[in-house]
Amino acid sequence: MPAFDIRAKVVSNVRVTDNVCVLTFAMIEPQELQFKAGQYLFVHASERVLRPFSISSSPDNITTFEFCIEVIPDGVASNYLWNLKEHDEVLLKGVFGSFVYHKDPDIEEIFMIATGTGIAPIKSMLLYELNHGEKRPTHLLFGESMAKDFYYLDIFAELIKKYPNLTCDLCASRDQKEGYINGRVQTALEKYFPIGKKSSFYICGGRQMIMDVSDLIIKNGGDAKHIYHEKFF
Ligand SMILES: Cc1cc2nc3c(=O)[nH]c(=O)nc-3n(C[C@H](O)[C@H](O)[C@H](O)COP(=O)(O)OP(=O)(O)OC[C@H]3O[C@@H](n4cnc5c(N)ncnc54)[C@H](O)[C@@H]3O)c2cc1C
Repeated sequence: MPAFDIRAKVVSNVRVTDNVCVLTFAMIEPQELQFKAGQYLFVHASERVLRPFSISSSPDNITTFEFCIEVIPDGVASNYLWNLKEHDEVLLKGVFGSFVYHKDPDIEEIFMIATGTGIAPIKSMLLYELNHGEKRPTHLLFGESMAKDFYYLDIFAELIKKYPNLTCDLCASRDQKEGYINGRVQTALEKYFPIGKKSSFYICGGRQMIMDVSDLIIKNGGDAKHIYHEKFF
């Protein structure tokens, strides 16, 4: 589908940690947004600044959509979004991206691996795919620095209750707290070694994490052709 302009208004802007906000928008023009879980929109932060942000809500919602945004010190677009208020209007461009779910029937196990706001497209995929009949074992590995940095945990707890095929490992790399793995997402992945050739991997976050996790998967039996990723920075 060719790119198109979007006008949307802020429904809510909730600061969920010291540096992450969850923004919900209602569509104005067009009235509905069709997209695939995992895709992103460009935000016009100013006349000259256009930045991509992944949609964190499910494609089942077509009149509203959600972003989760980490505010970067002196970052133009992230500060613009962080400071938005209810009813503010935003201009965007959509819809982009090929980091989407592959409905490959040969796959037996699915790994969703995210650090930081890399959780955005992963959350969208989990919400949509589980709600649309995904029954294969699905493992979410979510990494942050500290236990206090996590958000969306109530949503993931609900999903785990509803879908017994979903597991979730929370990895706090610089923290020790009950219920959290003290380590990076790579540490959580180790318990699944050796990795079967029929496993697929969706990885989102920073470049270095994606490279390290991909290397680890391949060294421990995974198939490179089933690794899909989205690099945020
Ligand atoms: C496909 C795609 C989807 C994305 N989705 C999201 C999303 O859902 N949520 C989200 O928060 N971000 C997301 N990003 C990142 C986002 O597009 C911006 O790069 C980020 O918000 C910084 O933009 P800025 O204008 O605020 O900072 P800029 O003014 O561009 O940069 C300020 C400085 O911060 C550095 N910097 C840029 N990004 C980061 C970072 N993430 N961490 C540390 N330093 C950084 C830059 O190198 C620069 O030196 C996504 C990126 C891509 C490519």
